[in-house]
Amino acid sequence: MKNQEVDCGCDQVQQPLLAMDEALDFLLNAVVINTNTHLVSLDNSLYQVLAQDVCSAINVPDFDNSAMDGFAINLKEDQVNTPGGVSFEVTDRIPAGSIGNTLSPGCAARIFTGAPIPQGANTVIMQEECEASEDGSRIEIWRPLSLDENIRPMGNDIQTHDVILRAGLQLKPQDVALAASVGVAELEVFKKLKVGVFFTGDELVEPGNALNRGEIYNSNRYALVALLRQLNCEVINLGNIKDSLDSTCKALEILASDCDLIMTTGGVSVGEEDHVKPAVEKLGKLSLWRIKMKPGKPLAFGHVGKAAFIGLPGNPVSAMVTFFLFARPFIKKMQGVSNHKNQTTQVQTNFDWRRPRPRREFVRVKLDHSTIPASANLYPKQGSDVLSSVVWADGLVEIPENSTFSQGEVLNYYSLTELTL
Ligand code: AMP
Ligand code: MG
Repeated sequence: MKNQEVDCGCDQVQQPLLAMDEALDFLLNAVVINTNTHLVSLDNSLYQVLAQDVCSAINVPDFDNSAMDGFAINLKEDQVNTPGGVSFEVTDRIPAGSIGNTLSPGCAARIFTGAPIPQGANTVIMQEECEASEDGSRIEIWRPLSLDENIRPMGNDIQTHDVILRAGLQLKPQDVALAASVGVAELEVFKKLKVGVFFTGDELVEPGNALNRGEIYNSNRYALVALLRQLNCEVINLGNIKDSLDSTCKALEILASDCDLIMTTGGVSVGEEDHVKPAVEKLGKLSLWRIKMKPGKPLAFGHVGKAAFIGLPGNPVSAMVTFFLFARPFIKKMQGVSNHKNQTTQVQTNFDWRRPRPRREFVRVKLDHSTIPASANLYPKQGSDVLSSVVWADGLVEIPENSTFSQGEVLNYYSLTELTL
């Protein structure tokens, strides 16, 4: 990649200016995928990432069975598709979990949903269509009957040796259920990533305390910890660190010994109060980029010891948006997720864009679903400090660099519901 090396001086102009796609490619290519795996019970496997394909050792269902509460019938040839009423002797009763006797031609067995189809039966008629005699010994049906009605054949869902779940899948409730349906009790998953975090800025105060003039509450701490937990990471949080080179280096050293990834917010610009950059450079390797995107410009990436390092910008909206667009796919790939890239859909803008801008913009929008595709309405304040915009929004619309358009332009949309899943 061009220009990834950092100029150590304080001149912003000399930091590399990078296109977003180039930065994302670089990050994803640098991922070292987690190799630690362990066996977990199905109950503990939700949202973990499968490390091995799961194969079925059985057919599901393992036997032909009834799709209805009704009557299994051994239809004789002359009883197939005959108009008018047909009458059958009821010779058996088969609840789910038991095996019936062989059914003779022209006979019926009371059968319940999921019960095995008895030998000889060739169709099942739902109970609502069967008229039973008073003592229940006979039934009569008043419509033409076909073979194979309401029978769920063996292997209808899954066949022996089928791969039912692939390695790299992040397990959802339906995946866990499918594993259970073939009798698998434990799954081999990647161990949770350990992510160490700290926050820089002497202006930051923990919620619950009073603010002095010039101070602000540390909201990024809560955003980042929550976002990482949502991605199923184990978070080691050192909290707010004093804005000095010494404390920043100490925090990095503590985390590097134990973590797969270290993340920070703030302190990655090149002001003299920004100590994250020199600290990572001193202890490891760092690339610092100004990315051609808004919000979010500065993003730092590197390594301290064996731990990867991602430094997000300090402004709260920039921190969240860069987390979504860069850290999230990076972490998912590290976790072994095969489908780690963010998904986009298409929406149309309910606004004009008259002035071309050099940076790609990710604007906060709310969707109006009364049109196709849905229309995106802009939040009026798009500043990188306006966290309310993210709370108000359904998602982000991606506005290409140097573009102008009128209302109705169809653009990429990132749903916040997906990004926070
Ligand atoms: P920095 O990148 O450190 O220069 O920070 C850029 C802006 O983000 C400044 O206005 C900071 O006060 C603000 N900021 C930095 N860290 C946080 C945080 N943890 N929570 C809320 N705002 C922050
Ligand atoms: Mg700062």
